[in-house]
Amino acid sequence: MPERIVVVGGGVVGCAIAAQLADEGLAPTLLEARGIAAGVSGASLAAIVRHLAGPVDELPFVLDSTALWASLASRLRDEVGIDIEFDTCGQLRLVERDAPDGELVELETIVEAEREAGLDVTMLDRSHVEHQVPLLDASTIKGASWCPGDAKLNALLACRALAAAIVTRGGQLLVGERVVRLEYDGAWRVRTASTVFEADAVVVAAGPWTPALLAPLNERLSTALWPKRAQCCATACLPPLIAPVISSVSVGISLGYTQLHQTRHGEILFNTVVDAIDPGLAEEELQPAVELDFLVASARTLSRLFPSLGVVRVLRSWAACEAWTRDHRFLLGPLPELPGLLIAAGDSGTGFLRAPLIGRLIAEMLLGRAPSHDLRPYAPTRRELEEAA
Ligand SMILES: Cc1cc2nc3c(=O)[nH]c(=O)nc-3n(C[C@H](O)[C@H](O)[C@H](O)COP(=O)(O)OP(=O)(O)OC[C@H]3O[C@@H](n4cnc5c(N)ncnc54)[C@H](O)[C@@H]3O)c2cc1C
Repeated sequence: MPERIVVVGGGVVGCAIAAQLADEGLAPTLLEARGIAAGVSGASLAAIVRHLAGPVDELPFVLDSTALWASLASRLRDEVGIDIEFDTCGQLRLVERDAPDGELVELETIVEAEREAGLDVTMLDRSHVEHQVPLLDASTIKGASWCPGDAKLNALLACRALAAAIVTRGGQLLVGERVVRLEYDGAWRVRTASTVFEADAVVVAAGPWTPALLAPLNERLSTALWPKRAQCCATACLPPLIAPVISSVSVGISLGYTQLHQTRHGEILFNTVVDAIDPGLAEEELQPAVELDFLVASARTLSRLFPSLGVVRVLRSWAACEAWTRDHRFLLGPLPELPGLLIAAGDSGTGFLRAPLIGRLIAEMLLGRAPSHDLRPYAPTRRELEEAA
């Protein structure tokens, strides 16, 4: 069992891993270059939605991870005094009136497959949609799916709570430590500008910056992740109007959203994932901009779906790069030729959903326990990535 463990990256994935390792008594050291949740995690909508989160065979993974969030929420409140605003609010997935033909049938097929795989999800007609969200103008949609167990949480508070738990559980949190090089000669040396950390095991959870850090050790990893830009905006605070997470089946900025929800504080948050960016960019280049078209489309979405809202101000907007793999599955696990090095990156837009279970799986690997899920589909050097390439 490794005694000195370094986790690189203080996003939700790195924090969940280090908090779990600390809980197991492994006292990890987490190194974060900028700040907790200063990368993709701080820009996230953090919906914990299992319905249409990925391939149906991943449902056991995301069901377990969501259950872990539910128990973490109350544990973190007791342990570090932070309410992460976890709310099992349900997800409504809309097929809009102008959606391409076949989209509704496609959604029905997926719902059927997910139900068979054990997810509580169903199709709703317009009157039931209006019942779930009375403010929504149901004449704008063809139909919808409804997944009552899907949830949302506060991204920043969740990361801060996990980070605080690392420390209260005996781990170490060092912010402002940018790892510049990883060296291996039987043991690991993790170099930052000012310090060298000796380690028996290193877990790299550096989000879209992971390839830049690992490419010198394994050339194949330099193109394993593709940054994709996600744009977001937030309205002014409104009274509680929209309980569930609302998602579109279609993806693209013309719709103005792929997902929206109202926070506990009243803001309505929108996001969309649009375009892929070249992999292997330096950190400062992974700072994408928001397009005016997205903001206009988001405002139109709001007035189309919720016409009775009238004028609503959009107060803030931002963009960030998610780290996508070609088969939309995480890179999770060891690199055979580099003992003690583990990777946990490649969120493909669902890192919050998966983070608690990733923490548990990494702990199982380091403790030499049998993995509670089949990790072969997530192997960082899996053939599927090369075939897809
Ligand atoms: C707009 C938007 C909406 C989203 N909505 C959802 C959603 O609804 N549900 C969901 O599940 N997911 C969602 N996601 C995706 C989710 O936010 C990400 O999957 C998740 O935040 C990834 O976390 P991470 O820890 O892997 O990466 P990050 O949060 O990027 O963390 C990586 C950290 O590593 C640090 N780092 C990088 N290089 C180094 C280095 N050399 N040394 C030290 N530290 C380093 C960075 O500073 C950063 O803090 C959304 C993302 C975006 C952008």
